[in-house]
Amino acid sequence: MTKPLENRVALVTGASRGIGRAAAKALAAAGAHVVLVARTVGGLEEADDEIRKAGGSATLVPLDLKDFDALDRLGASIFERWGRLDAFLANAGVLGAVTPLAHLEPKVFDDLMGVNVTANWRLVRSLDPLLRCSDAGRALFVSSGVARKHIPYWGGYAMSKAALESLALTYAAECEGTNVKANLLNPGPVRTSMRAKAMPGEDPETLPPPEALGPLIVDMLSPSYRKNSELVTFKRHD
Ligand code: NAP
Repeated sequence: MTKPLENRVALVTGASRGIGRAAAKALAAAGAHVVLVARTVGGLEEADDEIRKAGGSATLVPLDLKDFDALDRLGASIFERWGRLDAFLANAGVLGAVTPLAHLEPKVFDDLMGVNVTANWRLVRSLDPLLRCSDAGRALFVSSGVARKHIPYWGGYAMSKAALESLALTYAAECEGTNVKANLLNPGPVRTSMRAKAMPGEDPETLPPPEALGPLIVDMLSPSYRKNSELVTFKRHD
């Protein structure tokens, strides 16, 4: 049986752990060659091992997403090697600090905006021509439920995700009438290190593991997914 992403090229940011790593494994199992981006080489290598053991293939790109010029070079390298990009999972993110706005350190705020917003805009800028070279380019941006709420102490992270949603939906509007579709995913609470940092008192075993999101992410990055400008919230089924 043909796999949904057979012979397709997918890029995943934040692939060294958590949701990104699980998504990369699911995309590779669905047939895609996955380009894995994160800073932690060990985490990328572990993801690569897991993907190979399952019969898939990956290319590792260790980089800091705040090295914005490297994101331009990444687009150029993908173009040279494959001439297109079929799927882009904009997953990497940082939580910053859960603290009153008045206490948020400027360097923490800059990191939130740099990773969660500017890097994603720079990736859109770098990868949009490649997605348009695909017969069905798909971009999926990982947001959060807090983007549309105004919860005390979550302001830095919430602002960054609200800006990300604006970026993603504007990009989607610009893609109307083309082969490219851009959508948003709210994963809900997931058992990862970011969630543990945000909610240290919570029992992680009560949360779905990141692998639970794999099928939805594969679906939303497949050529058969034709919706655009959607915000989909993950619902666990166990
Ligand atoms: P995580 O376990 O902390 O993983 C974050 C990933 O982002 C890591 O692979 C990390 O890689 C990468 N990253 C962070 N800063 C980076 C940088 N400067 N350059 C390159 N890569 C960087 O988080 P997660 O829970 O899987 O979160 C994934 C996405 O889901 C995020 O956008 C998050 O906001 C969103 N989300 C998560 C939850 C949840 O409950 N877990 C809920 C709502 C939304 P390195 O550290 O190796 O660079």
